[in-house]
Order: sequence, then structure tokens, then C-alpha cells
Amino acid sequence: MKRNVSLEEISDGRLYGESDMVKADCRGCVGCSDCCRGMGQSIILDPYDVYRLTTGLKRPFADFVDKEVELNVVDGCVLPNLKMTGSQEQCAFLDEEERCGIHALRPGICRLFPLGRFYENGTFRYFLQTGQCNAARSKVKVGKWIDTPDQRRNREFVTNWHYLLNRVEELVQGNTDDIFRRDINMMLLQTFYFAPYDEEEDFYTQFAGRAAQFAQRTE
Ligand code: SF4
Ligand code: SF4
Repeated sequence: MKRNVSLEEISDGRLYGESDMVKADCRGCVGCSDCCRGMGQSIILDPYDVYRLTTGLKRPFADFVDKEVELNVVDGCVLPNLKMTGSQEQCAFLDEEERCGIHALRPGICRLFPLGRFYENGTFRYFLQTGQCNAARSKVKVGKWIDTPDQRRNREFVTNWHYLLNRVEELVQGNTDDIFRRDINMMLLQTFYFAPYDEEEDFYTQFAGRAAQFAQRTE
């Protein structure tokens, strides 16, 4: 989800790379689950999140839709996000002890928080969101905080996915034909979310194959 705000408004004004230290470590979030509630449609899932969830919980993506996940339109693209449920508007994965019930499989946005990504010139860096997490935080290396293996390939995937979505947004927003817009969104959902991922095969290789197929179909 793109936000049209200046970095100064929402961050400490600095940009970080994976080897930088940042004051993001909320030390286990003891007694707090604030960022698992009231997040609206903002925790958008990318294909790697869906790979982790579907292979980790052994459920097809369609089974999550309407229970823990919902589909919404973001900048013209139909994308899944974590669903907030109940009177507390909480993530459906938050357990009775108010801890994340899928910690090892949690989505990339949850891993990042309170960091965000700032894209520029075909790449991205991280920023520290201010006013989002009020816990006493200590410094941690960005790469450690993200808690994602093979960071080189993950960065490559995150970048490619971002710019692929940008291209889809341009296609959708530059075309007034509702059928075209529907079809391209269906193709996006089917290719990257509903088509099952093979847990025996490396995610990044599967993503690259799907991205090439999608590019061919949308040229
Ligand atoms: S708001 Fe901060 S301390 Fe609370 S759950 Fe989120 S990251 Fe942890
Ligand atoms: S997946 Fe886990 S960390 Fe992310 S919002 Fe839900 S309960 Fe919180």
C-alpha cells in the first residue's frame, strides 16, 4: 500500500539498510498486541507470505479467504490482507494469550513493524515509523529484526514484486475497460496467490517462474 506522505511526517527521517542498527526491538512485545489490532486493511500479503502460510499450515489459500484473510482493492489491484475481526478488530491469528498464533509464519509486514519500506530508483530502504509502537525499544540490526532467511534473494523478490504491482496498477488505471481490469486482477490473484505453491521447491524459484509467465500474458 502506497502512502502519499513525506518521510519526515511519519519517520525519524533516516533510511536504513539491512546492516544498519535501528531502534526497533520492542523486546518481545511483553503485554502488548497493539499492532495486531485495528490495522484495517493495511497488512497486505505478498506471495511469499502466502507460500509461508499455505505450506506451513497445510491449507490451500482459498481456505484462508473470509476466515483470516480478505480481498480488497489497493491502488486498482485486488490483493489479500489479514482480516481484523470481532469487537476488538483483531487479527484472526491473535491467540487467547494475545500472542501471534503463527509467529514463525507471520507475514513480512508483521516482521518489519515498526519499520516500513521506502522504494526509490528500483530498490528500497527501510524507515522507522514514529507514533506506531510506544514500547521501550532497543537498537537491533535491521537484518536481524526482519528475521527472514536468505536476505539477498528476499530483497530481490520484494523489489520485483513491488515493481510488478506498480506495472499492474498502471495497466489497470490506464484502461477503462472493466472486463480487462477484472481479468488482469483475476490473473494476478490466480498466478501468485490461489495456484498452490510446492513446499518441496524453493519459493523464489517458483515466484520467478510465475512472474515470467505473468509478464508474458500481460505484454
Ligand atoms: S505495538 Fe510494538 S510492542 Fe506492541 S505488539 Fe506491536 S511491535 Fe510489539
Ligand atoms: S499475523 Fe501475528 S503478528 Fe501479524 S497481525 Fe496477526 S497476530 Fe499480529
